[in-house]
Amino acid sequence: MTEKLNIGWIGLGNMGTPMVKNLVKAGFEVTVYNRSADKSEALSKEIGITVAYSPAELVASSDVIVTMLSDDAAVKQVYEGDNNIFSAKPGKELTMVDMSTVSPETTKYLAGLCAEKGITYLDAPVAGSVKPAEEAQLVIMVGGDEKVYGKVKPMFDVLGKMSVYLGETGKANVAKLSVNLMLGIVTQGLAEAVVFARKNGLSAEQLLPLINASSVGGGLTKMKTENIINQDFKAAFALKLLEKDIRLATENGMDTPVGQSLYTTLKAAKEKGHGDEDMISVLKYLSGE
Ligand code: NAP
Repeated sequence: MTEKLNIGWIGLGNMGTPMVKNLVKAGFEVTVYNRSADKSEALSKEIGITVAYSPAELVASSDVIVTMLSDDAAVKQVYEGDNNIFSAKPGKELTMVDMSTVSPETTKYLAGLCAEKGITYLDAPVAGSVKPAEEAQLVIMVGGDEKVYGKVKPMFDVLGKMSVYLGETGKANVAKLSVNLMLGIVTQGLAEAVVFARKNGLSAEQLLPLINASSVGGGLTKMKTENIINQDFKAAFALKLLEKDIRLATENGMDTPVGQSLYTTLKAAKEKGHGDEDMISVLKYLSGE
């Protein structure tokens, strides 16, 4: 029997929480740290998991430490903030795995710092939202050393329906930003179709089944149909996180017309107060709400 990895987990947001639950269900030893300790303590009560109160506390006992955090600044905090990863000594060969969506620059910077300390690093962002996270159906993109990917793959196998090794450090971040550029464009396209239909007397209830049955319908349009019809904009994937991803794509050379228009829309929707709602609240913004 192969020994299971000891996992330290940082970040219990919408994505991190169901991912940790799946690892525990699969028999992995997981210790969690979250900036707001109430979330880790609540999860500990629910599934009997060990809580750490700083990133440093995870270092000695972990084979792998995963970060699943909002953005570049949050991930850097783990390495540069109080009681950071580098302030403790690894007990064994340690690999850091960042599953957040961040820029390739941040990944290369942090992987470089880790290499100086003998710690290996993978960028491993995911496609799929809360439901795929709950159902262990994420698509995991991986950059870094392929041998290190082999070490961590048993964990990825529990979290997703597939993991794909893409090449050197930062490649997976590029893949993820490409996927989310398309995600944003499709989201805005769906919202625009609903706005246009309503303006001409056709309801979302009438339009969406047609879209879903046609060749332009797909996973995303089906996933958002009920939310649109029920006017439910609670965040599965917050609009401000999609805006962050399109900003990162722009900073990495995205200058194509539809993508630029999407970025303008998302910035304006966030400024209007829709940032903490789901990304489909682009519809609310385009409806003048
Ligand atoms: P979320 O629900 O907003 O959770 C964010 C997590 O980051 C929380 O644990 C939060 O801690 C922590 N955090 C934020 N700023 C921090 C800081 N400065 N220092 C330490 N911790 C900090 O986000 P999510 O939806 O789980 O997304 C996580 C990542 O996955 C993001 O990069 C997102 O783009 C990506 N992603 C999301 C989805 C989705 O559908 N939601 C899908 C694919 C990829 P607190 O609890 O203390 O606030």
